[in-house]
Amino acid sequence: MTRRQLLAWIPAATALRSLRAAEAPFERIDTHTHIHRIVPELFSVLEKERWRCLSICVSRAIGDQPSDLDEMIRGTAEVHRATKGRIAWATAFDARGFEDHDFAARTITGLKNAFDQGAIGVKIWKNIGMGIRGKSGAYLLPDHAALSPVFDGIQKADKTLIAHLAEPDGAWLPLDKNNPEIGYYSQHPEWHMYGRPEIPRKDAILEARDRILERHPKLRVVGCHLGSDEEHWDRLAKRLDTYPNFAVDVAARVRYFVRGDHEQARRFLSKYQDRVLYATDFVLESRDAVAASQELQRTHDWDWNFFATKDTLTFRKNQVQGLGLPEQVVRKIFRENAVRWLPGIGPKA
Ligand SMILES: [Zn+2]
Repeated sequence: MTRRQLLAWIPAATALRSLRAAEAPFERIDTHTHIHRIVPELFSVLEKERWRCLSICVSRAIGDQPSDLDEMIRGTAEVHRATKGRIAWATAFDARGFEDHDFAARTITGLKNAFDQGAIGVKIWKNIGMGIRGKSGAYLLPDHAALSPVFDGIQKADKTLIAHLAEPDGAWLPLDKNNPEIGYYSQHPEWHMYGRPEIPRKDAILEARDRILERHPKLRVVGCHLGSDEEHWDRLAKRLDTYPNFAVDVAARVRYFVRGDHEQARRFLSKYQDRVLYATDFVLESRDAVAASQELQRTHDWDWNFFATKDTLTFRKNQVQGLGLPEQVVRKIFRENAVRWLPGIGPKA
């Protein structure tokens, strides 16, 4: 390509990109990211591309590991302020003290403090069910009585519980090329459950989550990663039918729609168009801010094109076609459901 051809080509590509952005006639929302420090480069990309995000804190520690939660909460509240709310945030709590007599009171006080700083939700993570154990050695399950007053407190404050419980089926399968999660579990053997029968099974954990939905019918719950039913849309459909207080995000699981049956995906997403929230699971950590911002922008663009258009897209060296969902469905998945299930995520009226 000559320099002149290159110069002729660049504006065309730029125009194409802005056309794509213009195709979203509303501000979109990514409901699952992890952004815990100030990165002006990223903030300006979000503003320019008209995206809002939810940045979610997680209490990851198990056993006697040190906790980074307090620092994460501080950083995330700062991000929220620095972006004037464009990045909303969700807090978390350390469940390891669940057997302490003052656990509920102490935890609720901590959550209220975060709500005062603008937190709109509370995350619980897979270490509940698969990692945290009581004095007897038994695994803490999400429907344990000690957590119930905390869930009540979240509901009374009109905040949303964000629940990443259990894992994809791949966690319980051998690590071979048929395992769709081989990449993650090779890096994180501590969460690979295959051959570890002492840890609660996936269905036991998800049934315990279902009991939270049943016992707290007014509590809004967003199940991360398609509620860990990423490969079982029929089972997920039943849960959505049974529990009107349950919705799911698609964080890090868009690929299951990409590889799955597209007709079935369209039917599922149309039927449950009020219950599915767009999300990426973007993790910033200490990465280079510019590279990370570009990656997030690419993911947002790719996912938008997959759900909203019938364009031919490249997915891991293969060509796939976008789902081309109706505009009203796309608008719900990329914005309206977030506003409804996570009150406070949108701009203040
Ligand atoms: Zn996440």
